[in-house]
Amino acid sequence: MAHDRCTGCAACFSACAHRAISMKYDNEGFEYPYIDTSRCVDCGLCQIVCPVIQYSNKNELRNDFCDIQRGYAARNVNIQQREISSSGSIFPPIAEWIIDKGGVVIGTAFDDSFNAKHQVARTKDDIVSLQGSKYLQCKADNTTFKFIRDELRTGKYVLYSGMACQVEGLKSFLRTDYDNLYTIDLVCMGIPSPMVWQKYLRTFFGNEHILHVNFKEKSIGWDSFCFYIRTDKREYKERGMKNLYLQSMFKSWNMRPSCFRCPFKKRQRFSDFTLADCWGVYKKIPEINDNKGLSSVIVHSKKGYNLWQELANKIDFVEVDMDEIRAGNPYLVLNKQPIGNRELFYKILNEHPYKAFQKLCIPQENNIQSIIKKIKRLFV
Ligand SMILES: Cc1cc2nc3c(=O)[nH]c(=O)nc-3n(C[C@H](O)[C@H](O)[C@H](O)COP(=O)(O)OP(=O)(O)OC[C@H]3O[C@@H](n4cnc5c(N)ncnc54)[C@H](O)[C@@H]3O)c2cc1C
Ligand code: SF4
Ligand code: SF4
Ligand code: SF4
Repeated sequence: MAHDRCTGCAACFSACAHRAISMKYDNEGFEYPYIDTSRCVDCGLCQIVCPVIQYSNKNELRNDFCDIQRGYAARNVNIQQREISSSGSIFPPIAEWIIDKGGVVIGTAFDDSFNAKHQVARTKDDIVSLQGSKYLQCKADNTTFKFIRDELRTGKYVLYSGMACQVEGLKSFLRTDYDNLYTIDLVCMGIPSPMVWQKYLRTFFGNEHILHVNFKEKSIGWDSFCFYIRTDKREYKERGMKNLYLQSMFKSWNMRPSCFRCPFKKRQRFSDFTLADCWGVYKKIPEINDNKGLSSVIVHSKKGYNLWQELANKIDFVEVDMDEIRAGNPYLVLNKQPIGNRELFYKILNEHPYKAFQKLCIPQENNIQSIIKKIKRLFV
């Protein structure tokens, strides 16, 4: 698998029964599978379960899976839950529905060092740590997909929520369509490097004990969200668009190379629900936008639609045209284009992380403002 195609979904790592595959970090801090040829028996299973290799072989199946496809602008009526979530908080009511059925929910949480990892929620209280977008790639493991398979085989309801490449990886790994499996994927511009995130934390909060991180704090409004960190020494809050780490994401430098060539950004997906921020559409439906979080939701399958109908008293929603969702949220179907200077960014990051963030990741508007200031100075 070419380096710039592998998404790090870990389906191959999970499937290899001979323990021939391990995941190793590259110099940008992304994990990739490596094969120990002394253990490999050439069975070919890792290629069979790879969702990138198998993508186009499954087009027909994927189209059949998407047997309903309806779009909504939606928000959770529970305002406390919505405060914690990144968008309209649609994930928690779906997760609670699964827990009420005696099922388990698997999503992404922070560990004690603020790395992202898979975590299982068995109670409604457990769901809280899965809420909120963590803008860094989840650690690859070879236990989560196997755990999900084992739970499904006992007949339990399971909800898996992840990026589209992870959902496709899971479904490829399972190779069976389980009625008791529900999946959520997210619209994404791409997934950032955990190494860049840790360098950011060490550079700007190195002497502090970090207690809480929220990439999309909504106190000044969901549409102009803040980046928020609480440490043992202070509370740090700044507009998301000004934050240097998020700028390294908006500029595309910290993104996984596969995200520039992602095959999964399509209307047809193997997930029951696709969730996103309701950018664009919300201006047309002010009646449900209170600027505390609004989601675009695409329900792909009949199974998902049946669940969705049972949430009617927990979610306010308005049905919207799929083309409007797509117009407001182009990364549903389009890949972000890489911006130059990536090599320079990593080179400087390794030697002088402070300089890499401070000099290269300043927001564009600041650049323009500084040019205007320089021009003004010439005339004064
Ligand atoms: C890396 C990334 C990029 C995104 N890019 C966009 C974008 O360009 N446009 C857009 O409209 N929306 C984007 N989103 C999605 C958006 O931020 C919200 O996650 C989504 O709208 C769901 O909101 P919610 O309020 O319903 O969920 P919440 O209640 O906030 O729950 C968040 C869900 O996301 C999952 N999750 C969080 N972090 C990760 C992670 N690192 N990897 C896998 N799953 C994770 C959690 O398990 C949980 O299920 C992105 C999300 C991520 C993680
Ligand atoms: S070919 Fe089979 S044994 Fe070899 S790495 Fe792939 S899954 Fe493992
Ligand atoms: S299965 Fe996933 S991790 Fe393995 S090669 Fe394919 S994309 Fe990469
Ligand atoms: S763009 Fe999103 S779905 Fe595609 S490879 Fe990157 S993280 Fe995965």
